[in-house]
Amino acid sequence: PAKKQLGQHFLADRSYIDKIVLAVNPKDGDRLVEIGPGQGAITLPLLRRHPKLTVIEFDRDLVGPLAAAAEPLGEMTIIHRDVLQVDFTELAAGSPIRLVGNLPYNISSPILFHALDHAAVITDMHFMLQKEVVDRMAADPGSKVYGRLSVMLQAFCKVTSLFVVPPGAFRPPPKVDSAVVRLVPRDPATVGILDRKRFAHVVKAAFGQRRKTLRNALQNVCTPEQFEAAGVRSDARAEQLDVAQFIALANVPYTDGDDAA
Ligand code: SAM
Repeated sequence: PAKKQLGQHFLADRSYIDKIVLAVNPKDGDRLVEIGPGQGAITLPLLRRHPKLTVIEFDRDLVGPLAAAAEPLGEMTIIHRDVLQVDFTELAAGSPIRLVGNLPYNISSPILFHALDHAAVITDMHFMLQKEVVDRMAADPGSKVYGRLSVMLQAFCKVTSLFVVPPGAFRPPPKVDSAVVRLVPRDPATVGILDRKRFAHVVKAAFGQRRKTLRNALQNVCTPEQFEAAGVRSDARAEQLDVAQFIALANVPYTDGDDAA
């Protein structure tokens, strides 16, 4: 039986499994890492295409049967641990990895931010998430759902929403629509963020009070001079700023006198 607290909704519709494998399109030499393989709905078809794979699964009860099912198909390494405790940089050990996963929806944002922390060693990611989350990740400025998740992810990755998956494709079915998203980390040299902590802080504060003008939402974070230097209007609201403007605003040097940390 599926464990609700682990977000277990197993993919059961062959056509969507095929679409995911096709989207990932594994090539010789790729280092694939699947998060939450579960009963192997995606894992086993992936192994047939690409007979070497690492999986990260937290549920002890699933690990044994999965290993047995994978045995005849290829070489699968199982990491039996909470994915948030897995150091992707250490796992990559110098050669970049590709992440795949029908993620447990209850911790999808923490997993996304954890992956961003290791973006330098990740070639790309293909994730199944709640459609509502994918919509927020891919949203453009001015959209109702444009927010912190959009800016944080788009600053570091190219985000492409690929296709929608209905509840009926899963056992048991989740309550909401799902979607598959592709994330391709940008070259760290071209992202242009001088201080990631400062950037994250500015974005969080701006959207923390998204109905206010930036002048008010960021009154303890950015001075009028900093708005001026970044060329950003302080009477705008967070949802009107594009990613480049957030980066420009966060990059303006600040002094220790400001409450900017
Ligand atoms: N990939 C399978 C499929 O598509 O049928 C299962 C997907 S299910 C939505 C999510 C999977 O993530 C489950 O197998 C669950 O046990 C596992 N999981 C939940 N929390 C986890 C965590 N913190 N670390 C690693 N795996 C986790």
